[in-house]
Amino acid sequence: MKCPNCNLQLRRILYEGMPVFRCMRCHGYLLGERRLEGIKSSPLTSIEQLKQEVINEAQADTEKPIRCPRCLRKMEKRFIEEPAALHVDACRECGHVWLDGGELARLQLSHEMQPQAQEARRFRERIRSMTAEEKATFEANIKKLPKEERSVPILLEMLFGHRRDRLR
Ligand SMILES: [Zn+2]
Ligand SMILES: [Zn+2]
Repeated sequence: MKCPNCNLQLRRILYEGMPVFRCMRCHGYLLGERRLEGIKSSPLTSIEQLKQEVINEAQADTEKPIRCPRCLRKMEKRFIEEPAALHVDACRECGHVWLDGGELARLQLSHEMQPQAQEARRFRERIRSMTAEEKATFEANIKKLPKEERSVPILLEMLFGHRRDRLR
């Protein structure tokens, strides 16, 4: 398969643990549309890395119509709304999308910047930095909470100490 912009052979790589095709010249990506969600919410890449990728790989939006590298049908422009606010090219035939250089990172970054995602990130980071003993205590405390209260904001409050009272 060839890059729709530079006609160079696309290379299969793993991005956030998922197989995608990448153009090593213009940094564009071809991937199955249903993988977008998984990549967007993947915690593997830090915000700093994503920012670097946006800065280093940003390319102009492809404005001319392009053909799907996979099945060669004409792709259609699809708008992904704020805060990412970018156009991707989508193939209705085989369900693949083309993202220009830097757009995949922009998509992830805009997801990470949402308050909920930030809370989830803080939560993961805090868990990661716990000792085994702290982790065991924390997990035991979670089990004491009613199921409907096990949301990330409440768990965060627990972690940072404001909710200890309600566990007694
Ligand atoms: Zn290219
Ligand atoms: Zn296609």
